[in-house]
Amino acid sequence: RVGRTPLMAGNWKMNLNHQEAVVLVQKLAWTLSDKRHDYGKVEVAVFPPYTDIRSVQTLVDGDRLDIRFGAQNVSTHEEGAYTGEVSAGMLAKLGCSYVIVGHSERREHYGETDEWVALKARIALKHGMVPIVCVGEGLAERREGNHVAFCTNQVDRSLDGLTAEQVAGLVIAYEPIWAIGTGETATPQDAEEVCAGIRAQLEVSYGGEVADSVRILYGGSVKSNNVAALMQEPDIDGALVGGASLQVEEFAAICRYY
Ligand code: PEP
Repeated sequence: RVGRTPLMAGNWKMNLNHQEAVVLVQKLAWTLSDKRHDYGKVEVAVFPPYTDIRSVQTLVDGDRLDIRFGAQNVSTHEEGAYTGEVSAGMLAKLGCSYVIVGHSERREHYGETDEWVALKARIALKHGMVPIVCVGEGLAERREGNHVAFCTNQVDRSLDGLTAEQVAGLVIAYEPIWAIGTGETATPQDAEEVCAGIRAQLEVSYGGEVADSVRILYGGSVKSNNVAALMQEPDIDGALVGGASLQVEEFAAICRYY
């Protein structure tokens, strides 16, 4: 994993109001500053709901915390008559480093297609944020043995219109749908098979140098007791963590997996 700093990303989903968010980030910062552990090898990022981002920004900036943050979604439009949407420009202004695009919950519950995901990735990049592009197969594709092709196709289509230079700075998250929030984790070998397949596909499309620089995360019931084995795999560069990111001690333990 030479040159790729592991990223531990906590997706809070639709949990915690802005006051609870402040408490969690304060506790997390305090825990990460504990000198008995070395957290220096990973980058830590949290993904609060939109309504919490301003509070998280104030805390992170005010206390110069070594925690990045981002949004769980973004509009495909720059601005205008799109009631209920939040633009990339607004998120960039709040100091978001990242935007999660194409999470399986958005694909499933809000009908987001690969075309939408590509638009979201493009607009995030245009505003200086790094998209975390999520892909992952359902149980049916896994049972049919089509999981690698399914995910590499999703990657191809979700990156449509991006330049090789843009792709080089991306983060991709492989999250098998059957492992999200179910307590059922992919084995390290299962996860590596798909992550390696994605990197191979990136090499074909954009060249070896680009493929080597993209960080590929695994997500799906990552916990402190399974993260180390996943991180041993050569093509897994971090984790997208849902449920466990709401528990400070557990998330911190994931961040110091090594
Ligand atoms: C996620 O939300 O991206 C996720 C992987 O959730 P969990 O860790 O709860 O499975």
